[in-house]
Order: sequence, then C-alpha cells, then structure tokens
Amino acid sequence: EAIVSVQGVSMVFPNGTVALKDANLEIAQGEFISLIGPSGCGKTTLLRLLADLIQPSSGTIRIGGKSPEQARKARAYGYVFQAPTLMEWRNVLSNVMLPLEVMNFPVQERRARAERMLALVGLEKFARHYPWQLSGGMQQRVSIARALAFDPQLLFMDEPFGALDEITRENLNLELLRLWRETGKTIIFVTHSIPEAVFLSTRIVVMTPRPGKIETVIPVDLPQP
Ligand code: ADP
Ligand code: ADP
Repeated sequence: EAIVSVQGVSMVFPNGTVALKDANLEIAQGEFISLIGPSGCGKTTLLRLLADLIQPSSGTIRIGGKSPEQARKARAYGYVFQAPTLMEWRNVLSNVMLPLEVMNFPVQERRARAERMLALVGLEKFARHYPWQLSGGMQQRVSIARALAFDPQLLFMDEPFGALDEITRENLNLELLRLWRETGKTIIFVTHSIPEAVFLSTRIVVMTPRPGKIETVIPVDLPQP
C-alpha cells in the first residue's frame, strides 16, 4: 500500500563514508513529506537511492511495489535538483518536452503534455522564453514542469528552493502546495528550513547527523487533498 517503502537501508560509499544506517520509512500515496536534518546527514543520499541514481549497500527499497530500477524505467517519479539544470539554447517549452523527446513520444503529444505541465506551474505564457530571460524562481518552476513531463505520481525534490531569496521561496512554497492539492501527487521534499517543512508537509522526517538515522516522524496538521 505504501508508495515508498525503505527497509533497513544502509549506504556506505566506496571511500568508507557511512551516509545512512538502517533507515526505515513508509510513505503513503498523496503524502507531502519533508526530509530535514543537518548538512551531511544523508538526505540527498536517501533521495538518490530512491531514484536509483545510486544503489544501497544493504536493505530494501520499493517504489509502488517495484524496485527502484524498475520504477525508474517505468518513469514512476520525477526529480527536481537544487539548482535549475535547464538547457540555455532551448526555450522553456522545448526544455519541458526534452524528456518526452528522449523517449520518442509523438510530437503532438510532447507539446500537449509540456503545455499542460507549464500551466500547472503557472508559466504557460512563458513557453517561448529562454531560460536566461527568466528569474531563478521561474527557472525552478520550469524544472518542476520538466520533472512532471511523464505525469509521475511521485516527485522527489532536493532543496529545490534553497538558492532563492526569501520572498521568491515563499511564493514557490504556495505554488507547490497548490500543485500538490490539485494533483494529489506524492512529494518528498528535502529542505534545511524548518518553517518550510512545517508549512508544506503532511509529515516531517527528521534525520540525525551522519550516519543519518531516521529519528522522528512528526505528523503535521495539513489537510490532504
Ligand atoms: P545531506 O544531503 O543531508 O547534506 P548527503 O546525502 O549529501 O547529505 O551526504 C551524506 C554524507 O555522505 C556526507 O558525509 C557526504 O560527504 C557523504 N557523501 C555523499 N556522497 C558521497 C560520495 N559519492 N562518496 C563519498 N561520500 C559521499
Ligand atoms: P519568481 O517568484 O517565480 O522568481 P519573480 O517574483 O522573480 O518570480 O518574478 C519575476 C517577474 O516575472 C516579475 O515581474 C513577476 O511579476 C513576473 N512573473 C512571475 N510569474 C509570472 C506569471 N505566471 N505570469 C506573469 N508574470 C509572472
């Protein structure tokens, strides 16, 4: 029933760094989870493990009942990085269409989907703009639209607003909350900011300093969609 299940997962990097030790976490469909903890405690490592960017030293991860590799191949999740990673020579629409292009989606469908995802982040009017014409916050919204290109149920976000100023960040928090309410997606959101975590999430997962252990899971009184 859990869309994400992490059981006894440890991660030891080849240089011997123990980044995660016996992590356990179950996430239900539609939750908005914030992952907080001090720098270096293994938050990014946990997201990268979920997204099959790295493989655990031990333990079991299931995404919608599948292995992370199967889930990746099924395009079961999107991933938003800390800094926008848009292609400067492609316009906004073309950036959002890129993953669909790589997967050889029919041209008409690429365009229709990308336009739908841009509308979700409120940027439909900026489809023909280039990344350099947009503010940092708007570029990050394009990155979110691109991560949603396959319309995955699950979205991983690694400190997506960490580099933005306070006001932009608050605006994007509101926007993300609206997106979550409208779409019912499951979101796992890494942040350094306790206020952000409290504002956004249905549950806050607190990790201890390295090696990260999942310490506390705090339910937040945020109504689900
Ligand atoms: P956080 O996202 O909480 O800041 P990370 O998951 O990035 O923490 O890192 C957890 C720990 O693992 C840190 O001590 C970091 O230096 C270490 N680490 C991350 N990636 C690697 C790697 N590829 N090789 C060795 N150590 C790593
Ligand atoms: P963000 O919060 O996304 O970084 P800013 O607040 O920096 O955006 O806004 C940059 C400029 O773009 C501002 O003039 C803002 O009014 C405008 N802008 C942002 N989003 C939209 C939108 N969806 N439609 C029209 N203008 C927008």
